[in-house]
Amino acid sequence: RWVFMDGEYVKKEEATVSVFDHGFLYGDGIFEGIRVYEGNVFRLREHLVRLYESAHSILLGIPYTLEEMEKAVLEAVRKNSLKNAYIRLVVSRGTGDLGLDPAKCSHPRVIIIVDQVVMFPQRMYDEGLAIVTVPTRRNVPDALNPKIKSLNYLNNVLVKIEANQAGVGEALMLNHEGYVAEGSGDNIFIVKKGVLYTPPCYVGALDGITRQAIMDLCGRLGYTVKEEPFTRHDVYVADEVFLTGTAAEVISVVSVDGRTIADGKPGSITNHLLNEFRKLVRVDGSH
Ligand code: PLP
Repeated sequence: RWVFMDGEYVKKEEATVSVFDHGFLYGDGIFEGIRVYEGNVFRLREHLVRLYESAHSILLGIPYTLEEMEKAVLEAVRKNSLKNAYIRLVVSRGTGDLGLDPAKCSHPRVIIIVDQVVMFPQRMYDEGLAIVTVPTRRNVPDALNPKIKSLNYLNNVLVKIEANQAGVGEALMLNHEGYVAEGSGDNIFIVKKGVLYTPPCYVGALDGITRQAIMDLCGRLGYTVKEEPFTRHDVYVADEVFLTGTAAEVISVVSVDGRTIADGKPGSITNHLLNEFRKLVRVDGSH
């Protein structure tokens, strides 16, 4: 495996960064997780637009244009000759001193890792997940906007720990008002009476690329999707619940906080969307 580090390729085992990197010291940086399906990078443009918007928002100057970055990602995929892979693109503020002032970091660091994907086992898609809601709240947009995919993932890490403690694979964060925001690394949809609902980003959710792909698919397949805030109660009484994300794709949820969702089996709309999504990723590569 080869890791792209600031324009050079370094062997995986030798790809290391300085302890003075502010990504390490302060979580000062941004990232993207992107999938490669049968050699096609899924929605690369959209991921890069989100990356550059995150960078702009935190005043981080990426030393490449979006087009250069696009070429670098495709080259990194080619160099690792993996047909199905996960790309982790990281831009950190770079090396500075122990103070948190980013003005001391003159060279943002760009890293592109291409590696094997670790997926949920197919059994989990067939049976659906049990999840819980956890005490950790999603920060609201007046703090660090959840739309910024920053290296500050402690909130999400805590959610994962709380999920582990509850003995389940994923958990949901609510926002400070009690509205459902998202999972530790995925967006949520519910289905009620044939209509799909997903929280608007202002509730405290990342503008997920998979979320958008599902909304596009719904348009094509004739399903209505509404971006509306909803509560835990709405989730408990939904006909179907599913999560979306680059790693998880579309995964059914069959139990939330011990409440069985409908008949406790993945719903038909969820299954339909998962099948269509899996077809889409195989034909919808950027290149
Ligand atoms: N929400 C959070 C907090 C995430 O980290 C992710 C993963 O990137 C998602 C949602 C899903 O977004 P996407 O579909 O772009 O992977």
